[in-house]
Amino acid sequence: SRPVMLSVHIYPYGDGRHLLLARDITALEQAEAMRRDFVANVSHEIRTPLTVLVGFVETLQTLELSPQEHKHYLALMAQQASRMQNLVQDLLTLSRLEGSPLPGLSDWFPVSAMLRQCAIEAQALSKLLTKGAGAVHAITFPAADAPGMDWEIAGTQAELISAFSNLISNALRYTPAGGSVQVRWEVQPDGSACFSVKDSGPGIDPAHIGRLTERFYRVDRSRSRDTGGTGLGLAIVKHSLQRHDAKLEIHSQLGAGATFSALFPANRLRSARHAQPVVDV
Ligand code: ADP
Repeated sequence: SRPVMLSVHIYPYGDGRHLLLARDITALEQAEAMRRDFVANVSHEIRTPLTVLVGFVETLQTLELSPQEHKHYLALMAQQASRMQNLVQDLLTLSRLEGSPLPGLSDWFPVSAMLRQCAIEAQALSKLLTKGAGAVHAITFPAADAPGMDWEIAGTQAELISAFSNLISNALRYTPAGGSVQVRWEVQPDGSACFSVKDSGPGIDPAHIGRLTERFYRVDRSRSRDTGGTGLGLAIVKHSLQRHDAKLEIHSQLGAGATFSALFPANRLRSARHAQPVVDV
């Protein structure tokens, strides 16, 4: 049994009897505790790069530095500033998602266009991440004429591109150069479909998997930070997918890579050839 938090009011009738009113405020208190946690986390995440940035500014102001040292400090400052920029960007995305109406079933867009966009972004990011590493990522996407590529999804294209790109970006960021990232799109016989990203990276201890979509939860804080992570990525992905009735599943073992999948129900999908749901639900 879980503890319950009650708000209790006692009203005397005046004749020795009392009226007792009890209200279950457990959910309210939990929401309030989550809000407090979130504000504390955001403050901490902003304070850390800001403190470093202020420290570097003071160094530049007080020390006589060689042009090389000067350049070095400026590069470190740019890194901290971009960390804050990423954080603010992700916070804005979260708040926009929370405030915008749910994507309905009236706007359909092609899966192929979405995956093409994701592939372009993946190549660019991989190039950036593997610069100077002597090896690249082996990235595979479904071919343009692969089964299921002529399907359409109902929802907001930009939101889903961003969610899929986020999963692909994580796979690339956590997988060292020379590793592989496989993107799949598979339509099931019942008309549902699965988008998945499988990487050959370090994998995740199953003990952490259940918490990865919590805001600011990171298995390795410094590894995440070094690659520009904010700890909000998967929280945003889960939220965007939920808004499209899709479910995020994570499968991984330490040392055996990770697979992140988004499962879409049949009513969000249709074959463009028929322009209507193939399966009646
Ligand atoms: P971050 O900005 O830290 O990457 P995310 O919310 O995107 O935040 O991910 C949360 C955590 O999940 C990461 O810090 C990392 O520990 C873990 N993670 C996410 N994707 C992968 C992956 N493909 N391989 C290994 N670990 C991952």
